[in-house]
Amino acid sequence: MTDYQTITPVIVAALAAIVGADQILAGNAVPAAYAYDAGTQAEAQQPPEAVVYPAATREVAAVVRLANRERLPVIPRGGGTGLTGGAVPLHGGIVLDLRRMNRILHVDPAARYLVAEAAARTIDIQQAAKSHGLLYAGDPCSNDDCVIGGNVATNAGGNRAVKYGVTADQIYELEVVTPRGKIVTLGGRLQKNSTGYGLVRLIAGSEGTLGIITKATLKLQPLAPIIATDLAVFPSLAAALAAVKVIRADAWLDPVSLELIDRHTMDALERYQATRFLPDAAGDCLLIQTEAHNSAERAAKQKRLTELLENASAAAYFETDGEKIWQARRVWGKALQVDHPVGASEDIVVPVDEILAFLAELERLTTAFGFAFRIAGHAGDGNMHLRILPGAIPAAKWPASLADFRHRLYEAVYRLGGRLSGEHGIGVKRKPYFAELTAPAELELMKAVKQALDPHGILNPGKIFDL
Ligand SMILES: Cc1cc2nc3c(=O)[nH]c(=O)nc-3n(C[C@H](O)[C@H](O)[C@H](O)COP(=O)(O)OP(=O)(O)OC[C@H]3O[C@@H](n4cnc5c(N)ncnc54)[C@H](O)[C@@H]3O)c2cc1C
Repeated sequence: MTDYQTITPVIVAALAAIVGADQILAGNAVPAAYAYDAGTQAEAQQPPEAVVYPAATREVAAVVRLANRERLPVIPRGGGTGLTGGAVPLHGGIVLDLRRMNRILHVDPAARYLVAEAAARTIDIQQAAKSHGLLYAGDPCSNDDCVIGGNVATNAGGNRAVKYGVTADQIYELEVVTPRGKIVTLGGRLQKNSTGYGLVRLIAGSEGTLGIITKATLKLQPLAPIIATDLAVFPSLAAALAAVKVIRADAWLDPVSLELIDRHTMDALERYQATRFLPDAAGDCLLIQTEAHNSAERAAKQKRLTELLENASAAAYFETDGEKIWQARRVWGKALQVDHPVGASEDIVVPVDEILAFLAELERLTTAFGFAFRIAGHAGDGNMHLRILPGAIPAAKWPASLADFRHRLYEAVYRLGGRLSGEHGIGVKRKPYFAELTAPAELELMKAVKQALDPHGILNPGKIFDL
């Protein structure tokens, strides 16, 4: 591990010479919010020594070159909505807040692509695409606060992953500042490309440890004229998950989203949003989004869904107000915290054909530990967002009991071919478990990549793994 230098007045002056004296905050002037992200407000907190606000890629590169020379940690930060402490400056140093680099530079509707700077908000990219009758398919639930650089760095998933994949699948090209401060363009606006290593895929999901994303060229899709959201209600979670497998297997229906919302979470969402989503029924729910080119196709898809859902023992099935229910789905964490301020969040992912086996393990383990759980999962892609609740476990016993539970849960997940994180990443929060559960040879490869690209360990140190 590199011994990092501290930031002296001379370094502050050098940084100011790069970004401008009014675009740097140091020492006590650094706002408290840079000490944490959305997932670690109550836990990992460490303020940076300085925050800089570059306006252009060449400024980012100059800051990184200075940091590399002086051995200063550099922590890139987007919207700060990360849920793993990824943007927390564990070793102090410089937070590179890219907020001034927020422009959508170009939209080409004919060639179906868009070019955006790293801090363009995801929702603005979605809206820019929509204004041209196109779809940007990346759609994390935090879309109004997060930015594309953060989405690429975490390889964010979200609500349309069943049909369109995750952020990495939306990228043609990335402009990146390397840990030594060089500016490179990776990938290309190509439908296929077998020219050397796939470095775009390496950067996507690297959590700011291998390079700083400054610009992205993104794929746009045709926007379906009809995007419908249906709600199906089931007597049990198992029945809902069995339906996921059947609906997903139907190539003609080609669902965009299949989201599981357990009955308690649905009840909490109804109260939190003061809206009735289930007027005549109660149960575990599936949110199903499908696309259609015209009303005849929509009617045919509804008929097919009805048949599938009846066979899958759904108690009720109806079209719902997409905007309202997706808005509620986005705030499920806050809605649950009203009744359950204490709990632990999980982002595990298992193969889709193992979701029922995973549920059985989850139910077995939570019962054994006396815990309860809630799910609002991207079930259609096997990514289960869980909130584990202490149930009747006394507060004093909860931390130790939770640690034990987590080990058992993750063991079960890995046995089923799953992994720790489907979309939020490792950051600080999952680092110990990642070290424990990753095959030594795989971990060794990852560390070798980090050391080759960033020999002084200046980019986002202490994230994913320790060297
Ligand atoms: C309410 C809520 C809902 C969410 N829903 C989803 C969801 O549906 N799907 C999902 O995947 N995630 C979700 N998240 C998690 C989070 O929004 C995503 O991880 C998002 O991609 C983070 O983007 P950000 O701009 O906020 O990044 P930040 O939190 O600022 O940073 C995240 C990581 O990326 C690095 N980073 C940021 N910018 C750059 C850059 N330009 N270059 C290199 N590294 C960089 C940071 O160092 C850090 O490691 C949700 C979070 C919240 C609070």
